[in-house]
Amino acid sequence: MSDEHYEEPGPGKECSGCFKVHTDPFSWKHLPRPTNYDELPDEPKERARKLFNLVDPINSPEWEECIKVRDPGEWRSTEYMCEESEATDTYYRNLHPLAWKCISRALPDDHALACRIADSIDVLTCWTSDEGDPVVDNANVYTRIFSLYAPAWVDLHVIFDMRIGATFVECAYSFGYRAIDSPSTDKKLDSKTMHDHGPEAHQQHGWRPICWYELDPERRDISQCQITRGDILTVHEILFGLNTDLSKRVSLKLTAELLFVALGVPFSIAEKEGEKDGVPMFGGDGMLNISGAGPGKKPGVSAAHMRKILRIPPLEGDDPADLSQRQVGQSEKERNPQYECGSDCDSDCEYCADEEHNRPVTKRRRLA
Ligand SMILES: [Zn+2]
Ligand SMILES: [Zn+2]
Ligand SMILES: [Zn+2]
Repeated sequence: MSDEHYEEPGPGKECSGCFKVHTDPFSWKHLPRPTNYDELPDEPKERARKLFNLVDPINSPEWEECIKVRDPGEWRSTEYMCEESEATDTYYRNLHPLAWKCISRALPDDHALACRIADSIDVLTCWTSDEGDPVVDNANVYTRIFSLYAPAWVDLHVIFDMRIGATFVECAYSFGYRAIDSPSTDKKLDSKTMHDHGPEAHQQHGWRPICWYELDPERRDISQCQITRGDILTVHEILFGLNTDLSKRVSLKLTAELLFVALGVPFSIAEKEGEKDGVPMFGGDGMLNISGAGPGKKPGVSAAHMRKILRIPPLEGDDPADLSQRQVGQSEKERNPQYECGSDCDSDCEYCADEEHNRPVTKRRRLA
């Protein structure tokens, strides 16, 4: 293994990106994150409370195990967040400010809690490729939101392909989550099915599907938003508890938004006309464009569908379709019956003018 001399990042250690000891290794966090372990309590629950800025942590024999998982993971993130590293990962570095924007907007009167939630997000594995555009063509990203009160967490995953040319379509994404209520659970992230798109994705090893989307060769939207109210309640309970002071400070709506926001995809669910709603066109501040895929009439997830699940009254123009069932949009021919594109097509045709582009440069990131 070429990793023979690789040293796990940790307090006082040189960063493998900039070859310096970071003076503020957790600079992206909103609350101070201790790095001097001698000053921390020995008792695992109190130690975890200090390290991770927990809120009323419960008694549990599993705090020690939780620290063993979370602490080294956060140290690994310090290298990927390093501002001076040459191999800086834009997606990774973009994710935290984006998540902060959404979380702080959702909790305008509870800044302390917004900080704690934002600081509970960690990126585990981030693999993306782009062609120098601000949005990426392919992504395979795993992130984790740690519980604010228990030795537990929620894993999130998105796999995303977005390349469209005149003669080919590689356009699909799927989102999934996994609720881990004990750190002793098998923590293996990957499984064969994780690279599937469509209804088979996120069906094994504790994963649950959130939504999926595909553009088929006839350029029809095909999608399904499988996440249920029960799923959102599960995530809410893992992260914030059940009928506790903490759980009451966070709305179910924010929990639903977090499933996307913590993967670097801006998503908001409006309760009133005029509020920010859905996924911004062209990805917004995010780097995955899940709003503009194909004709975009049947996206994998919509704020309208989330309103239904969350029992928020619909807004004007909400698609009444039941997105929990597989949706099929119109084909290109059905949408534009007058349009014909044959072998004698002229070069002014917007479909044929869009030449198949070269394979993108690929950069790899492996963390967990
Ligand atoms: Zn560095
Ligand atoms: Zn491209
Ligand atoms: Zn044409």
